[in-house]
Amino acid sequence: MKKYLTRSEYCLGIRCPGLLWSHRNHPDSLSAFSEHTLAWTHNKKARELYTADIKDCIFISDDDIDKAALETEKAINDGKLSISNAAFVSGSLSCRCDLLKRRSDGTYALYVIKAAAHVRQSICHDASYQVFVLATCKIRVSRVFFVKLNTCFEKGKSNEKERFILENISSRVASLVSGVEGRARSMLKAASGEAMPKSPIHNGCFNPSDCENKHICFASLPEDNVFTMSGVSHETKFKLYRKGKYSFEDMLKEGALEPLRKKQVEMYLNDSPPETDKASLKKFLSELWYPMCFLDFETMQLPFPPYDGLHPFEPCAFQFSLHTQKKEGGKVSHYSCIAKPGEDPRRTVAKALIKHIPDNACIIAYNMQLEKMMLLSLADTFPDLADRLRDMASRLYDMMRPFEKRWYYDGKMKGSCSLKSVLHALYPDDESLDYHSLSRVHNGQEATTVYAFLTESPESYPEKDTILRALEDYCALDTYAMIKLLQKLREAID
Ligand code: SF4
Repeated sequence: MKKYLTRSEYCLGIRCPGLLWSHRNHPDSLSAFSEHTLAWTHNKKARELYTADIKDCIFISDDDIDKAALETEKAINDGKLSISNAAFVSGSLSCRCDLLKRRSDGTYALYVIKAAAHVRQSICHDASYQVFVLATCKIRVSRVFFVKLNTCFEKGKSNEKERFILENISSRVASLVSGVEGRARSMLKAASGEAMPKSPIHNGCFNPSDCENKHICFASLPEDNVFTMSGVSHETKFKLYRKGKYSFEDMLKEGALEPLRKKQVEMYLNDSPPETDKASLKKFLSELWYPMCFLDFETMQLPFPPYDGLHPFEPCAFQFSLHTQKKEGGKVSHYSCIAKPGEDPRRTVAKALIKHIPDNACIIAYNMQLEKMMLLSLADTFPDLADRLRDMASRLYDMMRPFEKRWYYDGKMKGSCSLKSVLHALYPDDESLDYHSLSRVHNGQEATTVYAFLTESPESYPEKDTILRALEDYCALDTYAMIKLLQKLREAID
């Protein structure tokens, strides 16, 4: 079967030829729960929802691109005004268009439909590729619209017609079309090579999220390299990288760092003892009391809000972990709540919080903005539980504060105050606190992605219970970690 360059491959190639190569040559290496797969599912749903109400819109259903292209040609020749999933092939290029509408002058309007709220340059590249392929098939596109999600849409309240907003991106796309031919040619060459093409490290390695090939492309850098030091601007990191200066030692030698960042590199390299501001730490710790609860939520942020009252991408808590200690040095108990995938988790979560968090407890979270937002949002959703939930929000304390303010700074934190960095720095040899030892879920993004898959298709995962246990283990480690950090802070002021 002929292998055409597809629309999604072109978009990957825009980000990086290496990424395009690995997707084409090793598609099996992608996790079933990858962000890429989830985005693909959501984009498909966006197209289905947007085109559902278009009168006489014909859907090209064949998965075989050559057959679908013939079907599309027939639909065009039959004078169909709206075609969804239209297919085109030209030489080594192919594309499927979310929606094409014929205009009165015989030209077409192209609609790029995504489960996204903002137009990005990658979306304009995507559209420019389609415009180019269509032009080679003698289809002239005179308008390009980006169909995006309306973030004001409220499930259960807004009219279905308010779900999407149209943005005219014709001129942005037009400026990219002339470069498509050359770009596509180099992409085809890169994709068919024996080995993954080598690219220098660039912004696309980190954006929109960390590239799945980082372990390959960053392997030649020292373990401690310019990209692993937090707080230093990307501009400075890339300036050093382009000069061939990769190590922490290089960062110092080049004199590229401002005083605070220079000090954090020196502390790391000299293995300096932690620095503490005992007065501030003492004050922070004196504000906490027993019983003490350590709370952490996991949330999903779906483009199509599944439950009434939610907006696109609005966080919705589906799980929490709670470690409780009644008195200093006393027994620590643990409670885990995780809602059944596919069911509205909010009331389950709200009631469990009320049942398990004592009315007089001091509640500690790490980077507490999310916990506060979730408690207040649950209070708004359930007026009968609102007083108790708002009261909890008023008793929240942020365990990140001492690290963010540098009242406790350890060089091994490498400038980061994220929970995982701080924990690793303070307990480098404790395997029970190592997130890598967890199975399946190792960070918040993975938790969000995995649960989104389970929510949208709960029957498709026979191993669901194992995944839910992995989510519980992950969240439990987040709250247990806070107990261990508190212990270190106390030792520091003794
Ligand atoms: S890590 Fe960077 S260079 Fe490597 S494939 Fe990904 S984007 Fe390309």
